[in-house]
Amino acid sequence: MIPAVMPTYARYDLAFDHGEGAHLWDAEGRRYLDFGAGIAVASVGHCHPHLVEAIRDQAGRLMHTSNLYNIPGQEKLAQRLVDNTFADAVFFNNSGNEAVEMGVKMMRRYHYANGHPERYRVITVSGAFHGRSLAMLSAGKQEKHLKGFGPEVDGFDQVAFDNLNELRAAIGPETAGILVEPIQGEGGIRPMSKEYLKSLRKIADEFGLLLMFDEVQTGVGRTGKLYAYEWSGITPDILATAKGIGGGFPLGATMATEKVAEAMTAGSHGSTYGGNPLAMAAGNAVLDIVLAPGFLDGVQKAADQLKSGLDEIARKHPSVFEGARGTGLILGLKCVDGVTNGDVVKALIGNGLLSVPAGDNVVRFVPPLVVTAEDISEALSIIEKTSSEIEQSAA
Ligand SMILES: *Cc1c(COP(=O)(O)O)cnc(C)c1O
Repeated sequence: MIPAVMPTYARYDLAFDHGEGAHLWDAEGRRYLDFGAGIAVASVGHCHPHLVEAIRDQAGRLMHTSNLYNIPGQEKLAQRLVDNTFADAVFFNNSGNEAVEMGVKMMRRYHYANGHPERYRVITVSGAFHGRSLAMLSAGKQEKHLKGFGPEVDGFDQVAFDNLNELRAAIGPETAGILVEPIQGEGGIRPMSKEYLKSLRKIADEFGLLLMFDEVQTGVGRTGKLYAYEWSGITPDILATAKGIGGGFPLGATMATEKVAEAMTAGSHGSTYGGNPLAMAAGNAVLDIVLAPGFLDGVQKAADQLKSGLDEIARKHPSVFEGARGTGLILGLKCVDGVTNGDVVKALIGNGLLSVPAGDNVVRFVPPLVVTAEDISEALSIIEKTSSEIEQSAA
């Protein structure tokens, strides 16, 4: 008989009872070190007192009013995002998928408003992941995600990762913009080079296209800057953010420059829940923490420690790992052929460490940004021990 929860996930046989910082406990009191953070969501760690207090307080006053009325928390969070990024305006939604898909709508609407309704197609890059709606599946073009869901939604053209010739060749009179993740997360922690991102900006400008970054996974301090685009020296026209921005509360946002945002006139888009007072309390509390002086420096320090530890483990265990990759606290270990990332994730769980499998046979580490030096040392010794065990069992 089918379980009441629809079987769309092959779940680990684990359930957690409570958490603190980078730690989770199951009902039997066993402690796990959480370097998955609920897929890069628990940015400020589990049950950060400031976030808990903000949500508790807001829940006791007012959770939801709808976007028919002004929402002071939205104005505050939007202004803070505007003050700290390239963007001039922000729309709040409830998930990464919604944030990216709205960005695609905005690309089309911008060209429509500028007399080019025929410009509706968006170029994406192989290995991309932008969400699970019919349109975003068609943007990502991953065979395994599209299978059985009928014809693709029209309007997306995909080119090879890091290939500018293919990208230029894909541009036509109907092209509206380019959509990329500065570091592919689900695709296997694949960073795009600074040169590549700079070229995308140049090409977009040359052809009158909009450049959009999907920073659903890389945003909100994950790379040691508020947004990963800051490392590239260029700015996008549109940016989608979610995952870490609510710290565990479902929240996404689509940000844009004025020239793009002004096409989104009253009635052009909407969301019942998007940006409700409770979500805004969560988002503002997360930014209180992430924007505090020194916080992002701390992320970079933690990232250096974790990355050099992973590099060393990969060097010591070449029969298990090909190498470490990623920047900031979005890092991965690529497994060699013959070692399956899913098996490594399971073995790590057995030793008390949570991680997340990613594409390209990578084990992904995206710990809470508040992870401590002791947490990282403990995680590295678990990964080291697990690597030795995998080596021995293969011998
Ligand atoms: C997780 C993710 C999404 C989808 O976010 P949801 O909240 O699951 O809809 C989109 N893009 C990227 C880069 C992601 O990592």
